[in-house]
Amino acid sequence: MSNLKVLLDNKELNLSQTKEGNVEIVSINVSITVEDGSFLHIGAAPSPLTEKKGSVFKVDRTPVIPATSFKGALRNQMELLLIKEKDNLKTLFAILDDNLIKPCIPAPNPAKSEQELFSFGYRGKIEDKKYTGHCEIQVDENNVNISELGICPVCYFMGATGIMGFLRFSNYYPGEGDWLVDQTNIRIDRKTNTAAQRAKVDGEQVKPNTKFAGTIEIINKTPQGFEFGQPRKIGEKTIDPWLEKWTEQDINNRKKTLIEKILFPAIQNIKLLGGQKSRGAGKVKVEIRNT
Ligand SMILES: [Zn+2]
Repeated sequence: MSNLKVLLDNKELNLSQTKEGNVEIVSINVSITVEDGSFLHIGAAPSPLTEKKGSVFKVDRTPVIPATSFKGALRNQMELLLIKEKDNLKTLFAILDDNLIKPCIPAPNPAKSEQELFSFGYRGKIEDKKYTGHCEIQVDENNVNISELGICPVCYFMGATGIMGFLRFSNYYPGEGDWLVDQTNIRIDRKTNTAAQRAKVDGEQVKPNTKFAGTIEIINKTPQGFEFGQPRKIGEKTIDPWLEKWTEQDINNRKKTLIEKILFPAIQNIKLLGGQKSRGAGKVKVEIRNT
């Protein structure tokens, strides 16, 4: 299967296309480096028997950036990108209705602060308490129930209630090395000027310059016949109307455009991951790599 050629920072990048059973996959290699002068803290779920307080998330004692953390950060960056580039993207995809290009707020009953996001550029309205801002699809034997705006561009990539997105995410693992530091806040015994017994461990951190690697996979073609770049249809219903009026006919150009205009910039815009941001944690550089 041939590679998909896309542009990254004006250089050609070959994305490998492979088959996994009867699903076609396009793979993108991504690295995440903890910035100098920062550190990374993605907390582990507290487990009182084995973990001390403030541990970072690990797999087999190795600190790992879980797929869900990266996915959440990418969703957020895609939302911001669609809001910022709304007019350009509307023109590109020949969209007439502003609402089609807007991202949804992925919650069926938005909190009041989220309702304020509508004016900030998200989909949705509250009329007679009927909320239509989030993406959800329900399919039964006779009906496809979906908002008239269909699935938003973010959920096209990331998935929504009732429908998978076109992206899949791996965990991110660090290379060989000594990645962890204990941020130990040792109480000093004033009288003896030595560390007090039972020094309190405040938490673990991943050191600056630690480099993690992982992949994003685009599901290029699904067994149901959904193809990345095309609007999906279920029965007679088009569920991705934002892609319906796009005049680009070449499927590889459609894929290339979605990757170059939405996916890549959103990935590169991720600058923060994890917790303890108020302490300067979580500053990262996210890079798309050729190999
Ligand atoms: Zn959505």
